[in-house]
Amino acid sequence: MDIATATITDLADAIAHKRVSAREVTGACLDRAAKCEPALHAFLELFEREAMDQAGAIDERVARHEHPGPLAGVPIALKDNICLSWGRTTCGSRMLERYRSPYTATAAQRLIDAGAVVIGKTNMDEFAMGSSCENSAFGPTRNPWDLSRVPGGSSGGSAAAVAAGVVPGALGSDTGGSIRQPAGFCGVVGLKPTYGRVSRYGLVAYASSLDQIGPLTRSVRDAALLTQVMAGADAHDATSSQRAMPDLLAGLEEGVNRLNIGVPRIARSDSNHAAVNEAMARAAVALSDEGAVVREVDLPHAGHGIAAYYLVATAEASSNLARFDGVRYGRRAELGPGDGLDELYRRSRAEGLGPEVQRRIMLGTHALSSGYYDAYYNTALKVRRLIRRDFDAAFESCDALLLPASPGPAFRLGEKTSDPLALYLEDVYTVGVNLAGLPAVTLRAGAASLDGRELPVGVQLVGPAWREERLLRIARMLERALPPVAVAPV
Ligand code: GLN
Repeated sequence: MDIATATITDLADAIAHKRVSAREVTGACLDRAAKCEPALHAFLELFEREAMDQAGAIDERVARHEHPGPLAGVPIALKDNICLSWGRTTCGSRMLERYRSPYTATAAQRLIDAGAVVIGKTNMDEFAMGSSCENSAFGPTRNPWDLSRVPGGSSGGSAAAVAAGVVPGALGSDTGGSIRQPAGFCGVVGLKPTYGRVSRYGLVAYASSLDQIGPLTRSVRDAALLTQVMAGADAHDATSSQRAMPDLLAGLEEGVNRLNIGVPRIARSDSNHAAVNEAMARAAVALSDEGAVVREVDLPHAGHGIAAYYLVATAEASSNLARFDGVRYGRRAELGPGDGLDELYRRSRAEGLGPEVQRRIMLGTHALSSGYYDAYYNTALKVRRLIRRDFDAAFESCDALLLPASPGPAFRLGEKTSDPLALYLEDVYTVGVNLAGLPAVTLRAGAASLDGRELPVGVQLVGPAWREERLLRIARMLERALPPVAVAPV
């Protein structure tokens, strides 16, 4: 069994039936991490000892014929804004460089309870603000398909680790595309569940009305499996839904009859890279070969998504990040004689927070300030409602919408760092989904040949709220109809 290409489903089965031990699998993943990390820098911390201990405990349960759980011995990685009661939870920020969480996030705990082994915490844009991993205070992650390019962001470390064959699955968080865009750049599957499907308890908040934890994996089935294990109500998160989660795995292969797929007109843009338009066409053909009716639909307000997102997200961020004041949380600056409390706040935040985080706190504070609240924040909320209504209308006639994951394939490190707006435009196809609270999944549908290298190109399927089961069935139909996903050549 090649552990670097195996799926979660296969690994859990092999471990539970003693064809391979959990320690062997975890050891192989740690070896692969050691080999890839110097080039990739996907991880902020690796837990060699704890992971081998966790794996050993699984092997003992298997030896005692106890059921070791659906994720028995499967190594996973967590984005570093997901709290774990061991190691550090830095959010890619100097502010939390030494922060040790006293508790584990519900989503991570449910995976661990199901037998998963956490091998490490992955790199990310600081506080999940960014689309390239270049905003990490600890240096960028590189794309395993081309080390001169970014892996996407903000869950870039998780996407790169899965694509490079270090782990078969990882968790990310998605506020405006941070699971789906890096999944596209790295050629893996990434799912953002419906808002409220997965508990946010223990996810360090960026924009609480948009944030959602989700999986990055090598197959649609694995994304379904991780989501199934994580999802469901949690007393610690009042926004987690009480709705029962349908069985995501049982009917996954059955497909969907008389499928209607909508392609929003906004997706056919001349400013997309040619390879993105090719991948879209290929996915549309693959779906109609499966019997789907593919037709154009209109999302009239989609063009305002970026503006609304960057107001709502920064407004919420400015309030969420106020807790990092150097007193209760985070790095505390050294004070000189005579310096007061204001100086402590000012200096701690200036030293602890990077330029993009500071920019967003200022933008958000401005959008919420008296005199501007109605003009900016309230207007953005109204646009948000219109965007949600557009999706509702589209889903009256469509089972899912097909969109690019991003306008182009992975760009070069440094290519967009001098122009924050250029980077914000990367999110044109992803932010609407968060504003509307919908589930969406990215998978690889093509490749771009750039500088003599093959780069993956992803497409996105978006579904109605709470219909992950059908969305994943459609994604599985598409996955089956497209060429299989390879492991990146690190
Ligand atoms: N790229 C978007 C941003 O910078 C999305 C980030 C995210 O989903 N966490 O805000």
